[in-house]
Amino acid sequence: MTSDLLPPAIEPAELIWRDGVPESATFGDVYFSRDNGLEETRYVFLAHNGLPDRFNTVPEGGCFVIAESGFGTGLNFLAAWHAWRETEPDHPATLHFISVERFPLTRDDLCTALESWPELSPLASQLVEHYPPLTRGVHRLLFDSGRVRLTLYFGDILDAWQALDFRADAWFLDGFAPSTNPEMWLDQAMTDIRAHSKPGTTLATFTSVGRIRRALASTGFQMEKVRGYGRKRDMLVGRLPTGEDAEEPATLGSVAIIGAGIAGCLLARNLAERGVNVTLVDSSPGAGSGASGNRQGATYVKLGVEFNDQTELALSALMFSQRCYGPYRESCWHPTGLLQLAWNEQEQDRQQRFLARNKYPTEILYPVDRERASQLTGVPTQTGGLWFPGSGWLEPSKLCTQLIQHPGIQTAFNVNVTKLDFSAGKWHLSSSTGTDIVAERVVVCAGHLSPDLLPFPGSFRFKSIRGQVSHLEESSVQAPKAVICGPRYLNPVHEGVAVTGATFDLRDDNPEPTQASNEQNLSELQTMLPDILTRQPGASAPTGATQGRVGFRCTTHDYQPVADQLCDGEGNSVAGMYLFTGLGSKGLSYAPLLAEYLADRLSDQPQCLSAQLKRRLESRRIHRAQGGESS
Ligand code: SAM
Repeated sequence: MTSDLLPPAIEPAELIWRDGVPESATFGDVYFSRDNGLEETRYVFLAHNGLPDRFNTVPEGGCFVIAESGFGTGLNFLAAWHAWRETEPDHPATLHFISVERFPLTRDDLCTALESWPELSPLASQLVEHYPPLTRGVHRLLFDSGRVRLTLYFGDILDAWQALDFRADAWFLDGFAPSTNPEMWLDQAMTDIRAHSKPGTTLATFTSVGRIRRALASTGFQMEKVRGYGRKRDMLVGRLPTGEDAEEPATLGSVAIIGAGIAGCLLARNLAERGVNVTLVDSSPGAGSGASGNRQGATYVKLGVEFNDQTELALSALMFSQRCYGPYRESCWHPTGLLQLAWNEQEQDRQQRFLARNKYPTEILYPVDRERASQLTGVPTQTGGLWFPGSGWLEPSKLCTQLIQHPGIQTAFNVNVTKLDFSAGKWHLSSSTGTDIVAERVVVCAGHLSPDLLPFPGSFRFKSIRGQVSHLEESSVQAPKAVICGPRYLNPVHEGVAVTGATFDLRDDNPEPTQASNEQNLSELQTMLPDILTRQPGASAPTGATQGRVGFRCTTHDYQPVADQLCDGEGNSVAGMYLFTGLGSKGLSYAPLLAEYLADRLSDQPQCLSAQLKRRLESRRIHRAQGGESS
């Protein structure tokens, strides 16, 4: 395998440009018509799927789903988004656009290709800005505050339709011509298209090849040949019969979320933007008071040497978190970059094996030597490490407070939920203060307190891990200008303090900061960065770290999060109840993607994770078998 094909990299498209029109060197075909690509898109794909008129029929809280084969330059997506903007309903509603691409364009090529459409340029520049690094798998991008959601699968078409969970209202079948790219038009692809459709789903394609028409017809589409665009004589359209089993749009109902940490607040905001009424409940007086209440927290994941599902989930979460926090850049998100220091021999060896077996785009990470590491962080380091240019640190509590400012979110603070009962199709939340909250669905998102709220007896495989951070006064530390991670992390100074931490204390439930924990943090920090403290703790002058803060992280036995409908001990789903916890010390990185995924499920919309990655999040893992650990 050449290094360019090591995971998670994906081969980019090789383009030939003729008169400003991109052509694929692999397939020898153009990405869009030389006559007028945008008009052709509007004619073939939009008009022949009844768009934009059908956009207006989307009910409140509902969505319209377009699926496409071959994302290419994104022209079809932009044309659909543009039409949605002009005609979208005036209530909350979402346009989902799902597309697959085996040879993605590089960002530079995408930018050049889209320069042909000045009319689309405000949208094109947003697509270019959010366009993901070229890594295999699913990428979810949000536009217009989530009213437009793009799910981009970088990989082969058959893998995409196996991996993704959605049902389309309209299909844009836009691979290169069947004669030049038969793999895009295999019978299996047609079967998958049918499986991802529903009564009344329509399709349109520029091709009029008889084999394609017959293959689609054999899956149940009523196919018709109609006049093609410009000089093309024919094209195909299709429609699945509506039949008697036409579906009622799902009614969303209200959702109660217990726990206003970063996970609960992100989920609340996400659902509210989709038009769901949310009640966010917490026993504290405000949002972001528990483990999410630290002054600073790094967005950091440790990517495994093997590119397995666990690593893919961590990577997807990291990329999504960087996009999600973008709008908060001026207020509480500080993308300073982050150095994962190769601080001892073991970590140096791990990083070398990691680099030999993987090929990550430099937008995500790249190795740096000691000199460069010192330049980037602004402090002396003993070694180099891995540099994550898009990572950084957050003010989590401030972010939580901002997230919940939405008219669709009601808050119930100072409410200590003690019991959850299900009756007459609703969850009833009873509290020690007498407040009762009723909702169709409930999400338990209460970190280490979550197990106590599960409404059946049993023993669960959660661990609560105490973590104390230490507050270093500005005068006591040579503060870095980027986050540095090793056995501890160290943040840049903010408001006179740099936060370092955190301890990892199993079987310790002391909620108060202790001097012993501060000393442990400082000792680890000095192992990692020997010259970083300008004044030793315990010296007669004010010590570097007399202040600290304790939070309790919730982790599972396998250190993977849970984001799923709850299962009882027999593996049966508990109606209307979801669990979102176990994020450990990586909550700031994982919570945005997992909130997006749970919101997809709670709103019955296309899902942003592949089947493989969803398995990592299942709740059935958390039950401990009677008499011992289950596997
Ligand atoms: N819809 C695109 C646009 O708006 O620019 C144009 C699509 S272009 C005609 C066809 C695309 O299908 C190319 O980008 C090509 O790389 C992609 N493709 C070809 N074979 C594929 C496969 N087996 N799986 C996924 N994508 C494939």
